[in-house]
Amino acid sequence: MKITDIKTFIVPAYVSDSDWAFGKAFVLVKVETDESLYGWGEAYVPNDCEHAIAALIQSLSRYLQGTDPLKISEFRHNAVHSFANLQTGLHFSCAVAGIETALWDLNGKVHDQPVYKLLGGACRTTVPTYANCHSNKVFPFEEFIEYAKHQHKAGFTSVKVYPFWNGTSVADGLKNLARLRESLDPGCAILVDAWRALDYESAKPTLDDLEALGICWLEDPVPTEDIESLARLTEATSIDIVTGEILSEDAEFAVLLNHHAANILNPDITCVGLSAVTSIAASAQTTSCKVAVHNFNSMGPALAAGLHAGAAIQNLAGVEYFSRFKAATDTFCQLHWQQVEEGWFALTEASGLGISVDESALTGFDYKPATKRPWPS
Ligand SMILES: [Mg+2]
Repeated sequence: MKITDIKTFIVPAYVSDSDWAFGKAFVLVKVETDESLYGWGEAYVPNDCEHAIAALIQSLSRYLQGTDPLKISEFRHNAVHSFANLQTGLHFSCAVAGIETALWDLNGKVHDQPVYKLLGGACRTTVPTYANCHSNKVFPFEEFIEYAKHQHKAGFTSVKVYPFWNGTSVADGLKNLARLRESLDPGCAILVDAWRALDYESAKPTLDDLEALGICWLEDPVPTEDIESLARLTEATSIDIVTGEILSEDAEFAVLLNHHAANILNPDITCVGLSAVTSIAASAQTTSCKVAVHNFNSMGPALAAGLHAGAAIQNLAGVEYFSRFKAATDTFCQLHWQQVEEGWFALTEASGLGISVDESALTGFDYKPATKRPWPS
């Protein structure tokens, strides 16, 4: 079997635009072969970079045509060493991960197996997810409380919120968080993402307040490159410190582990790819660290890839689920995974990623760029 073509499809941001939040563009990848089998993948898209990521995938595609699509490790090695000459970085990593995801889907279809079985088999029968409640529109916090309650009503038992988002002070953020805790069913856990808005001096005193509110997950309290502060905060609290969503290199995750700078590593599934997420998890396990699968992508190929990785990782802390992308994703992709109690997903037996993509829906989108985000003046 040989690769004959690699196609990219941009889902413009307006497709996922809603009253709740501005939309986000998605880039889907289709790897075609000379044996009528094909695989679907998705690449992470940094803001406004959908054309850049798609162009990188097309540049890589030239080198893949005529090669064996089942040689995923060889593809990753050649992409990094021969194509990029070790000059990689986040955007390159997203493009490689997009192709790699499609190769895993294809690999699963060739062997008539779900991808998690090719990754070493499942460690669990259901894959835990949590509901992200982020919006990039400005609302009073009551709206976030209602949104979180709605996610819990829809079945999720963990919700993630951003109390310090958009310049909200630590004091106001903690007050809002206390209101959320009072309003939400006690059985629903609150995960806090600080969006790198704090520094050590402001984060350290909040740990006791967060602990008192029963918070057990604090994501990105400080910038990820501030390894020393992350390590000091990790040492100082029983709350799990979570970080890594903006990282793309194995070596960067290794630095976090070597410095005990997190309890949970948070690689994005279509920024680093399935192979790297599983290898990062194996390294993390050697220091009793867990992995949560970050997934700010469509709820189609990327979610499916996250669920397969999540199934195969022993030390999993959960997979991120964006309810606000569900309706948009349904217009071009069907997910053959069943959501059961707690919003978790029962293992699929479908081959590959367990998705069906409607290519005609993808080609039917007229492109428009995302709404321009305001810059501070
Ligand atoms: Mg985050």
